[in-house]
Amino acid sequence: MEIKIIPCLNDNYSYLIFDKNKKNACVIDPSESLPVIKEIEKNQLNLKYILNTHHHYDHVGGNKELKKKYHSKIVGFKDDKDRIPEIDILVENNQIWKKESFEAKVYHIPGHTTGHIAFHFIKEKKIFTGDTLFSLGCGRIFEGTHEQMFNSLNKIKKLPKDTEIYCGHEYTLKNANFCLANDPNNSKLKEKIFKIKKNLDNNLPSIPSILADEIECNIFLKAKNLENFSKLRDLKDNF
Ligand code: ZN
Ligand code: FE
Repeated sequence: MEIKIIPCLNDNYSYLIFDKNKKNACVIDPSESLPVIKEIEKNQLNLKYILNTHHHYDHVGGNKELKKKYHSKIVGFKDDKDRIPEIDILVENNQIWKKESFEAKVYHIPGHTTGHIAFHFIKEKKIFTGDTLFSLGCGRIFEGTHEQMFNSLNKIKKLPKDTEIYCGHEYTLKNANFCLANDPNNSKLKEKIFKIKKNLDNNLPSIPSILADEIECNIFLKAKNLENFSKLRDLKDNF
């Protein structure tokens, strides 16, 4: 499975995954259609599926146009069927979604929104976490509770340590500064920040991140309990 990281809008990432031989593709969270179309045409792909992690406009903005152009099917969480534009296939927690050569496990990870999900391509060791887990951060709690977000992050934390994290935004450097302010003696974090800066200076994404690194460096994954997590999450809102 090949993957292309597509920068969209200001700081979003959409991800195109495809089978190089059969030319079938899925896009995860198309914020907008144009940059995605460009990449599809460049690689001469058939966009079979559009996978949405949640209903926010910067994750579904390209749904309608891409579906119209490529006759793709849109996959999203069953409880969000009324707010994910043009949804076709409803998935639920712990379901294995399998089509063509694509196979992903779906996790319901509420907190940022009540219907947020992640797609975990187990064989490829890649997870698409939308706005729940970011590199060195986590999403704002808009609809859910702190407890839901804490539990959702703990679910991801239990996955194999070599899992690659593909998240919805390039927030890594801002997140890094918050981690450093609250965890100033973490040498592993300092090392990671050095690498992140090098990528960004070269106009490259800081993504993917490896789960093992996140567990050691991401202050939200290091939170010992709900109380500690909630305090950090509130601090970050005003950082
Ligand atoms: Zn969002
Ligand atoms: Fe977002």
